[in-house]
Amino acid sequence: MQFIDLKSQYKQIEENVKLAVNKVLDHGMYVGGPEITELEEKLADYCGSKYALACSSGTDALLIPMLAMGLRKGDAVFCPSFTFVATAEVSAMLGIKPVFVDIDLETFNMSPQHLEESIKYVIEKTDLNPKLVMPVDLFGLPANYDEIQKIADKYNLKILEDAAQGFGGKIGKKVAGSFGQAAGTSFYPAKPLGAYGDAGACFTDSEELIEIFRSIRVHGMGGERYDNIRIGINGRMSTIQAAILLEKFKIFDNEIKQRNIVASRYNKLLAGKIKTPKVNDNYTSTWAQYTVIAESNEHRTSLMDKLKSNGVPVAVFYPKPCHQQTAYKNYCHIASKLENSEYAAERVFSLPMHPYLEEEDQIKIAELF
Ligand SMILES: *Cc1c(COP(=O)(O)O)cnc(C)c1O
Repeated sequence: MQFIDLKSQYKQIEENVKLAVNKVLDHGMYVGGPEITELEEKLADYCGSKYALACSSGTDALLIPMLAMGLRKGDAVFCPSFTFVATAEVSAMLGIKPVFVDIDLETFNMSPQHLEESIKYVIEKTDLNPKLVMPVDLFGLPANYDEIQKIADKYNLKILEDAAQGFGGKIGKKVAGSFGQAAGTSFYPAKPLGAYGDAGACFTDSEELIEIFRSIRVHGMGGERYDNIRIGINGRMSTIQAAILLEKFKIFDNEIKQRNIVASRYNKLLAGKIKTPKVNDNYTSTWAQYTVIAESNEHRTSLMDKLKSNGVPVAVFYPKPCHQQTAYKNYCHIASKLENSEYAAERVFSLPMHPYLEEEDQIKIAELF
C-alpha cells in the first residue's frame, strides 16, 4: 500500500508523457519553450483567473506576488501557523515577522474570528502596518474566503492565496487559485497536480501585477535584457515540467473525482471510530491529505504504530505549528495563544490518499481503528 501512489498514475499516462518529454528534447527550448505558454493559458482558464505565470516552485509562486506587491519590513502579513513552513517563510525572507493566526478545528483552515482579533492586536499593540492576509487551502480545502474577504475589505488588506495544496478545490463554482488579488500553487510531485520535479504557478486578474510577476521571474528584467529595473529572482519553470504537467492536467478532473470517492468511503468506514475531516456545504476539496484527529497525543502514537505495523503508511502534517519551530518562535507575532493549532499538531495524522486507492485497502485500514 502506498501513501501517495505516483506509480499507478504514471502507468496511465506513461506513453503520452514520454512523447511530450521527447518533443521538448527535440525542439531544445528547455527554458521558455512553447509548452510554458500553453500551460499558463490552460491553468488560468481552469481556475478562472485572467493570468497565470509558470514558475519554479510553490514557494517562489508565493514569493513573486509578495515582491510584486511591494511588501517590506514594517508591514504585517497574517498567515496560519498550522501550515507548511513555506507560507511563513516568504514573509520572513523579506524581513517581515509573520503574524500567526489560529485555525478552525473543523476545517484546519484560518479562523476568520482569530484573523480579526490578530488584526486588531497589530493595530492597537504594534507599530506595524497591516497589509496582507495569506490564507492557506490546507489539505486541499479552500479557506473560508467569504468571511476572510469581508474582514480584508473592512481593514483594507490584500489577500494572497496559498493554494499550494488547494489547486482545483472549489467554493461553489469558483476555483482555488482565483481567490484574492493573487495566488500561488505548487506542482511538487506529491501535490494533487504534481510535476516530476519542482514547479509552481501564480495567478492574478491584474494586468499590472502579471507584468511585474514576469519581470521578477527573470531577475527583475525590464524591456532591455541587461538593464534590470527591479530586484527579482530566477523563478522559471523548466519546459520539461510544463510538458509533463500538460499531460497530467488531462486526467486531473477525473483524479479529483476519484479522490472524493476515496474520501467519502473513508468518512463512512471511519464514522464513530475517529474524528474525520469536515467539508462544508458548497465546498469541494482536492484531498491533498485525508487527515483525522486522535483523542490525545498518546492515542495518535498508538494508532499510528498499529497502522504502520500492519503495513499502512501514515504521516503527521504537521507535528509542530510554525510559531513553535526553532526559526520562528522568536521571529513572529501572536495576538493570543494559538490553541487550535497546538491541539491539532499534537493529535492529527493523515491516511493514504490518492486516486488509485482500492476499497479493499480502505476497509483493511478502517478495521485497524
Ligand atoms: C508545498 C507547499 C508550499 C511550497 O511549495 P513548493 O513547491 O514545495 O515550494 C507552500 N505552501 C504550502 C501550504 C504547501 O503545502
